[in-house]
This record gives sequence, C-alpha cells and structure tokens, in this order.
Amino acid sequence: MLVSKSSSLATSERMRREAGSITRVTNIGIVMNVIMTLAKILAGWAFGSIALVADGVHSLSDLATDALVIVGTRVGLRPADKRHPYGHGKIETISAFLIAFALVLVGARISYVAGREMYLRHHSYPGVWVLVIAAISVVGKEWLFRITRRVALACNSAAVFANAWHHRSDALGALAVVFGSVAGMMGWGHGDQAAGVVVGIMVVGVGLKIGADALVELFDVSADVETVTALEQAISGEEGVRAFHRLRSRLVGREIFVDVHILVDPALSVVQGHRVADRVEEAIRSSMKRPANIVVHIEPDLPELRAVNPNK
Ligand SMILES: [Zn+2]
Ligand SMILES: [Zn+2]
Repeated sequence: MLVSKSSSLATSERMRREAGSITRVTNIGIVMNVIMTLAKILAGWAFGSIALVADGVHSLSDLATDALVIVGTRVGLRPADKRHPYGHGKIETISAFLIAFALVLVGARISYVAGREMYLRHHSYPGVWVLVIAAISVVGKEWLFRITRRVALACNSAAVFANAWHHRSDALGALAVVFGSVAGMMGWGHGDQAAGVVVGIMVVGVGLKIGADALVELFDVSADVETVTALEQAISGEEGVRAFHRLRSRLVGREIFVDVHILVDPALSVVQGHRVADRVEEAIRSSMKRPANIVVHIEPDLPELRAVNPNK
C-alpha cells in the first residue's frame, strides 16, 4: 500500500530532470522568438513590407505560449500537498489546451487574412529581402519544432508537444511567404495568399487535434490499450499475484496514476502480502514510460472476491 520511499524519490527526481529539459528547450524558443520579432519588425519597417511587420507582431505573440509552457511546468512540478493530494500535473494538460486554442486562432487568422486579400484581388509581390528573412525563419522554426518535439516525446508532455506544433505552424506560415515571393517574382500576385489559406487550415486542424486530446485527458480517460496491456502483464507476471481486478489508470500531465486490487494467498501474513504489493508497484513502475503513481489494494484469494467483475 505504501509507496516505498526510494521509488517515490526516483519518480520526483525524474520529474525534475524532465522539467529541466523542458525549460531549456522552451528558453531556446523564447530567445529565437525575441530575435525574430526584432528582425522582422525592423526589416519590415525598413523595406516597407506590412506583411513582414505583421509576422513580427505574430512572433511576439509566440512568446505567450512559451510562457504558458514555462508556468505549466513550474506549477506542475510542485509536490503534492494537503489541498492537492494528487499533485499539480493537470495544469500541464490545461496549458496544452490553451496553446491548442491559440493555434486554432492563429490558423484561422492566417486563412482569413490571406483569403480576404485574395477576394479583394490585392496582388502581393514581396521583395527579395522578405524572401530571405522568411526563408531564415522557415529553417529556424522547423529546427525549433524538431528539438521541441523530441523533448515533448521524451517527457510525455502534451503542453510541450502543442508548443512544438506552434513552432511548426510558424515555419509553415513563413513557407507560405517564401512561396508567395517566388510566385510574385514569376508574375503571379496571389501565391502567398493561396499558400496562406492552405497553411491556416492545416494549423487549425492541428490545434483541434491537440485540444481534443487535452480534453480527453481532463475527462480521466483510461490510458491507451497498449499501456493497459503492459500494466496487466506487469501485474499478473509478479510472483504471488493469483488474480487481480479493478485495474484503473488515468493520465495526469506527464504522469500516470494506477490503482488495482490484487488477490494473494489468504494464508500470507500482512508483512508478506505487503511485500507482494511492493513488488507489483515496482514492476508497474519499471514497465511504464511515464512517472507512475500506484496504489495496490491487497485481498485474500477467496471465491467471493474472485467473483468480482474484473473490469469494474
Ligand atoms: Zn506563432
Ligand atoms: Zn477488490
């Protein structure tokens, strides 16, 4: 029943290490966003490109979702306390949802602005400097997307994953500008508008997907089939476990919470039964990719307890 001291320390140590790499990769994003904001606004102003100034203002708004990740990670790391006995992990799911919401707004705005320009038959011929700066931001943001996604997957962080996709949506937006510049040089004045409409719709799609995943997690949906199968194997593979039922799992931020009833030999002493429970917790912990919080309830293997519906 009791989580052994050493493994709960290992769990919080791992949470802290992961928070360190999340903060590091997010700080890289913040530095790049500050540089891009200044470069785009100054260059846009110097070369008379309203589109580039607007994109610079957008880079400024990117700092907002970076801040959400930093705050979510910091609050999520706080240890459980009396008022928050399950920890603070849900804050990360909530910040993933907010970032997804921002993605939907950003995507809708890209499509709307580009579509309106097209409808108004405004032609745009971005110059060569706009092309250069847009190309640099495609490469920079795509690189940011890749390093951020790597950290997100390693730490199972939905908020960081959402922010990684924000970086890629910015790369795609800049790619639309590149496409438009080239099309403009070839004499077609609607290139970046057409690309903008498509990119905007893609960004909305990604935002909706990430937002839906965050909502599902807030509803305490069980872990995926693969994870549940791994849990079942870890529990039933442990010596002394004759049967188990009421296995429940849910995701909280980067962590997984598991509880289960195990049936053991009725003749075991309390000390021996507790030892089995400890081993089950250890087996679950080492089979999970996420930091795991586990409660194991021990029952004697009696016919009436065997008869319990295993899925309830
Ligand atoms: Zn953005
Ligand atoms: Zn039971």
